[in-house]
Amino acid sequence: MAPYFIQFSYIVAAALFILSLKWLSHPTTARRGVRVGELGMALAILGTLVHQDIVSYRWILVGCVLGSAIGLPMAVFMPMTHVPQRTALSHAFGALAAALVGTSEYYLHTGALGTFTMAALSLEVILGYLTFTGSLMAFGKLQDLVPSRPIVYRGQNVVNLSLFAVAVGTAVYLVMHPGQSGLFPVVAGLSLLFGVLLIIPIGGADMPTVISLLNSYAGLSAAAMGFVLDNNLLIVAGALDGSSGMILSVIMCRAMNRSFTNVLFGGFGQVQKAVGTAEQRSVRSATPEEAAAILEAATSVIVIPGYGMAVAQAQHKVRELYDALTRRGADVKFAIHPVAGRMPGHMNVLLAEADIPYDRLLEIEEINPDFPRADVALVIGANDVTNPAARHDRASPIYGMPILDVDKARTVMVIKRSMSPGFAGIDNELYYMDRTMMLFGDAKVFVGELMKELTGSHVRV
Ligand code: NDP
Repeated sequence: MAPYFIQFSYIVAAALFILSLKWLSHPTTARRGVRVGELGMALAILGTLVHQDIVSYRWILVGCVLGSAIGLPMAVFMPMTHVPQRTALSHAFGALAAALVGTSEYYLHTGALGTFTMAALSLEVILGYLTFTGSLMAFGKLQDLVPSRPIVYRGQNVVNLSLFAVAVGTAVYLVMHPGQSGLFPVVAGLSLLFGVLLIIPIGGADMPTVISLLNSYAGLSAAAMGFVLDNNLLIVAGALDGSSGMILSVIMCRAMNRSFTNVLFGGFGQVQKAVGTAEQRSVRSATPEEAAAILEAATSVIVIPGYGMAVAQAQHKVRELYDALTRRGADVKFAIHPVAGRMPGHMNVLLAEADIPYDRLLEIEEINPDFPRADVALVIGANDVTNPAARHDRASPIYGMPILDVDKARTVMVIKRSMSPGFAGIDNELYYMDRTMMLFGDAKVFVGELMKELTGSHVRV
């Protein structure tokens, strides 16, 4: 009976994982995608728990308690803006688990493993260990525990690739001579070291892309583990994880105009912190009252949310503003840049949380033609994704990155606290344009002030 249940639960779980990924790819169905993915995982765990090969339920329970004790506080207390580093930690542990399973399988059956299984096991162990240390390094960089700037030296790629080649070469030798157990720690050790060296030359700015790539490696490691353990569900789930991580990395690379090969082979991401020219040039700042007067007269408004909106948690106030402007008959749309914020889909998640209708959220290609016709482009805590330098300044670190054409709107309003740069550390020429009004203040507070003006609850003197 148990084997049938296991097969049944695995097939249903695999189908649920595929559906989950499909639904996760659109904001309207994303919540359903998460639920279905959770259901699939619960079913997969249940199916595995009735497996005849389970040796000790006690240790599984200990693992569950320990994992929950770490995972639950992470999920509850880590803020949304720290999701990239939280994801890095999850990959680190997932990859370590895969690598440890591979290690134990090797030592349990040393010499008795067939060539195919040994090859899969080697892949699992190499990817697992390098993803473990690589993800920990990525976590450290994003959390500022290690310097987030790229650490580079001459010949770095040669050193890294040689080290990787030695690890792979040793693994190939081990596949052909599985009894040479002394070589196994060499493969594991070199992979652990390679994970660290792979991440060292990459700057914090590119870390989320790298994390997505590491996610893909962890998935491939799990798929390889599926071959070692002869477990179809692991193969399917690992392959889905591996391919979706890879696709996401490619999408992020395109959105930031980074080459994918560059990410794969490291040695990139030296974000040059340009010296701000804010002191030499003047900007036009405005009060909530002045800004509200212009918004009152506007018939088409495009809101550009960015990282600052996330930090200020201003999405609910933005929703109120959306309601107030729409009630006045204005056409209000939201321009979503693929890398606005600090993780893919960051803005979609926040705006969905505030129940802003999905059909008002437009991707960069859809919204850019609308900017010249917009009365107001209201930038709320976004910076780099609006910087016109990306279009024309070849010296700019973000040159070539597709940006939102905010500067083409009739009036541009920018809510931010100061003239500080955004993630790329560079000045934004948008702020010095004649038709730009700087609205200095915290996004939540400033939008609240705008609301007071628009709804007339502010006492005018
Ligand atoms: P930016 O990081 O360019 O700018 C955010 C702006 O928000 C800052 O200039 C800051 O100015 C302002 N800000 C911060 N806190 C507040 C607050 N409380 N109220 C109002 N404003 C605030 O954000 P963007 O979203 O425009 O761009 C994202 C950047 O992150 C891009 O460079 C992208 O490449 C990068 N990135 C994105 C990833 C993703 O997956 N989304 C992944 C990796 C990198 P001030 O301090 O003056 O208030």
